Amino acid sequence: MQRAYERFLNYVKIHTTSDEESGLHPSFKGEFDLAHVLVDELKGLGMSGVRVDEHCYVYAYLPATPGYENATKLGFIAHMDTSPEASGKDVKPVIRKDYDGSDIVLEGTGDILSVSRFPELKDFIGDTIITTDGTTLLGADDKAGVAEIMTAMDTIITENIPHGEIWVGFTPDEEIGEGADFFDLKNFGATYAYTVDGGDVNALEYENFNAAGAEIAIKGVSVHPGSAKDIMVNAALVGMELHSLLPEAMRPENTEGYEGFFHLTSFTGQVSSAKMSYIIRDHDHDLFEAKKVMLQDAVAAINKKYGDGTVTLTIKDSYYNMLEKIKPHMHLIENARLALKKAGLNPIDVPVRGGTDGARLSYDGLPCPNLGTGGCNFHGTYECCSIDKMDKAVEIILNLIEIYR
Ligand SMILES: [Zn+2]
Repeated sequence: MQRAYERFLNYVKIHTTSDEESGLHPSFKGEFDLAHVLVDELKGLGMSGVRVDEHCYVYAYLPATPGYENATKLGFIAHMDTSPEASGKDVKPVIRKDYDGSDIVLEGTGDILSVSRFPELKDFIGDTIITTDGTTLLGADDKAGVAEIMTAMDTIITENIPHGEIWVGFTPDEEIGEGADFFDLKNFGATYAYTVDGGDVNALEYENFNAAGAEIAIKGVSVHPGSAKDIMVNAALVGMELHSLLPEAMRPENTEGYEGFFHLTSFTGQVSSAKMSYIIRDHDHDLFEAKKVMLQDAVAAINKKYGDGTVTLTIKDSYYNMLEKIKPHMHLIENARLALKKAGLNPIDVPVRGGTDGARLSYDGLPCPNLGTGGCNFHGTYECCSIDKMDKAVEIILNLIEIYR
């Protein structure tokens, strides 16, 4: 039987970077390439109801072992796309045996994956790890999760492990906040599910940010600079001024734990017009709402100074903190802790400084906490994962299936 990392190495070769700009579902047609590979593998394993739909969601289930039909119907979900923040094309994974805890030179660029900058690497000492060559991201987020779920299914089937009904879902476009948009919950038979989309395998994640996206359009007044006095409004400068009205302490690079932020994700502009995109995040619902008001106030102040209509702001909520939806089903967390302990791990609760497909699904009626994949430094060229921790992630899934059967 293939180990999780062996499947993983196949999946990362497939380019599945989601595309915020395309407006399509899936956002990038390359996501279908991985979906079709997964469909073939699921069929090969002997899973039932294997399908990929027009939006590139892959579903399958495993009917309960006779005698276990009344067991809790459990789902496992991971996403197939990778973050648009770094290239996911022509990924060249590098396997490094017996990692000794020192800095790693990424061969493709000479960049250093440094332990002082990424202290999580210390958790990988003694493991065999997979890094990038520095030119792309790796795709452990979340192809490691896909590979782990796949390997767990393979193990159950191959080793004839008794189980309740198990559902599997692989989603596109999680990284652009759309992973749950077309999830077919009506036909997904699980009562509860876990996403396998975290980092550290010791981590249990069931609290996440409340999240919104803000789009800002700025209209300038462009005239010849020689005759600009009291006439020109430089849209790019107005954007900078607007940004300066937001507290510096509320930037991602200045926050941690439960602290929320405004994150300027893109800024393009010239004299005549400018565009800014922000994401707004906070674990606390009231502080989340307050941040939206803060941005609205900043825009109002700029419009007061430069004239109505100079800046237009559109805010759209993306997802909410799943804690509220998990609380009535805390067995999901207690059993996950048990599953981790059985795998020899030391469970810790980690507030997610992001979101997962599971947050949205929890609000749509499928309570869905998040498990770790054994990867770290997601969304960039320093991404890496441990093949030993990936095996642990498989073990956790198998333990959960045993606990719930
Ligand atoms: Zn992810």
